[in-house]
Amino acid sequence: MKNIAVIGSGTMGNGIAHVFAQNGYKVSLIDISEQALEKAMATIGKNLDRQIKKELIDEAKKQDTLANITTYTSMESGLGDTDLVVEAATENIDLKLNIFKQLDSICPDKTILASNTSSISITKIAAVTNRADKVIGMHFMNPVPVMKLVEVIRGYATSDEVTESIMELSRDLRKTPVEVNDYPGFVANRILMPMINEAVYSLYEGVAGVEEIDTVMKLGMAHPMGTLQLADFIGLDVCLSILNVLYDGFGNQKYAPCPLLVNMVTAGAKGVKSGAGFYDYSHGTKDLVVAKQFKK
Ligand code: NAD
Repeated sequence: MKNIAVIGSGTMGNGIAHVFAQNGYKVSLIDISEQALEKAMATIGKNLDRQIKKELIDEAKKQDTLANITTYTSMESGLGDTDLVVEAATENIDLKLNIFKQLDSICPDKTILASNTSSISITKIAAVTNRADKVIGMHFMNPVPVMKLVEVIRGYATSDEVTESIMELSRDLRKTPVEVNDYPGFVANRILMPMINEAVYSLYEGVAGVEEIDTVMKLGMAHPMGTLQLADFIGLDVCLSILNVLYDGFGNQKYAPCPLLVNMVTAGAKGVKSGAGFYDYSHGTKDLVVAKQFKK
């Protein structure tokens, strides 16, 4: 594989484009928003500068990486002789099904179609194409240039050959791929989201306060970040929507989102992105200040 297209240039799309380009692949970065593309290229430049500062790469590598990326605002113009498409557009099922229908009609037969979705069924996405054997999940973690894991998700019809080529490609990106099957939440979010939900329940039921819960998880479990702080970083709306996927997908009460989480999202307290969640980020993310609702 040489030619890669990345659909969506937001938080994940710019990181995915960065990693492919840095490893010598030619990348078409496609977004419906010109502004998002400009922001993505600026972010990639900044992240490459950070790598230079850490002496991981030199200036020539930065320029080569940037030169490997071309931006487009339409799929028709950005998709030519593409070997692999990695879709990293907004997490919305109708949007993704529509994108995959279009990809299936535009891309040559050989093109593998991957999605970076956190929670949508790969089997469902594959079913709207005429190449279900070539549709797969390639779930990168945020921030993509730093995080080593790629959760490779096999849909019901994904072929062995396609799975093996995506595993190999992930290793070529110097990541560690893990193959999993397509069931709600895959592995990462099936384990992570109930843990986050349980932390919110512990707060909701008054077992302990925000700082106490996060301290237990940081010092007791050696997690780099408290569970509630992590939820704020992921986005409480994202956590709620993944929990709903688990709840609907398994029909099991144990995945029911905590009413406090539902209330917070309804009120617009979505974590870092909205300025407050369990913590208040109006002064930035460096100093942790408990949000006023949870102050004792
Ligand atoms: P984001 O909102 O930062 O970016 C999404 C981008 O998609 C936007 O720039 C938007 O303009 C673009 N877009 C929307 N419709 C499009 C279309 N039809 N064609 C092309 N571009 C389109 O979202 P994100 O956080 O980067 O998430 C992207 C995907 O990655 C989602 O499926 C999400 O579940 C998954 N994911 C996110 C994270 C995370 O931590 N943010 C981690 C793993 C996986």
